Amino acid sequence: MKDCPFCNIPERDIIHENGLALCFLDRYPVTEGHSLIIPKRHVSGHFQATPNEVSAIMELAELRKRSLLEEFSDITGFNIGTNCGRSAGQTVFHLHWHLIPRRDGDIEDPRGGVRGVIPVKRIYP
Ligand code: AMP
Ligand code: ZN
Repeated sequence: MKDCPFCNIPERDIIHENGLALCFLDRYPVTEGHSLIIPKRHVSGHFQATPNEVSAIMELAELRKRSLLEEFSDITGFNIGTNCGRSAGQTVFHLHWHLIPRRDGDIEDPRGGVRGVIPVKRIYP
C-alpha cells in the first residue's frame, strides 16, 4: 500500500526475511534492538493473517532473538507482542509483532511485563 510505512521499508533496513515475512528495527525503540516483524502482505492485524503468515513471523522472531543475543551480551529477557486495534494501542495498521529486548535493571520493578498495557494493573497482588 502506497501510504503504509511498513509496505515501504527500504531493502537496506531489512535484518531478516523469509518467504512471507520480514524483520527490521523499530524507528522509535523502547530498548536498544527493539525489532518489528511483519508479514509482507498488508494485513491490518494479527487476526487477519493466515496461519502460514503467522508461522513465518514466528520463524523470524526466533531468528531475530538469536541475532540479538549474538549482538548484545547484556540481553536477559524479551517482551513479544502485538497490538490489535486502536483501542489496544495500535498506531500502524499493518500487522507487526514487537520483539523488545530487556536487560536486568532496565526498569526498577519489571514484574507483570505486558500486563503494563493497563499501567495500574501491571503488578498483580
Ligand atoms: P503500534 O503502536 O503497535 O502500532 O506500533 C507501531 C510501531 O512502529 C512503534 O513502535 C513505532 O515506533 C514504529 N514505527 C512507526 N513508524 C515506523 C517506521 N517508519 N519505521 C520503523 N518503525 C516505525
Ligand atoms: Zn502495509
